[in-house]
Amino acid sequence: MLEPPVKDYEVKATELTRPFWDAVRAGRLIVQRCSACGKTFFRPEVACPHCLSTEWRWVESSGRGTLYSFSVVHRAPSPAFTAPFIFAAIDMEEGWTLFSNVIGIAPDEAKIGMTLRVSFEHPSDTLSLPLFRPADD
Ligand code: ZN
Repeated sequence: MLEPPVKDYEVKATELTRPFWDAVRAGRLIVQRCSACGKTFFRPEVACPHCLSTEWRWVESSGRGTLYSFSVVHRAPSPAFTAPFIFAAIDMEEGWTLFSNVIGIAPDEAKIGMTLRVSFEHPSDTLSLPLFRPADD
């Protein structure tokens, strides 16, 4: 069973990304939704990447998505990581995509298209991460 691959890391939040990280620490997943075209987008941007509007707001995500693609990383990219881990692209229900890790399964159990749900992990006192586990339902 894979555990969170990062035990301690300093997230350098900016004014733009701080609401996302504060929400994660509080056990909520939020995403930007454009007020002009209605699309969601991630990573955080000052303007909508679909229509360039700067009118957007943070909205709640269901935390559910499907595994679009993944890679099993066998060599840690830095001493902060523990390998192996699953690096995953996850298509969220609201139409946005984020990169995260799938945990709670063995590397060979990951399947493209599997349903995932967010799992808020707190590997250290200062680090909270939105990782993903297979959905039970
Ligand atoms: Zn837009």
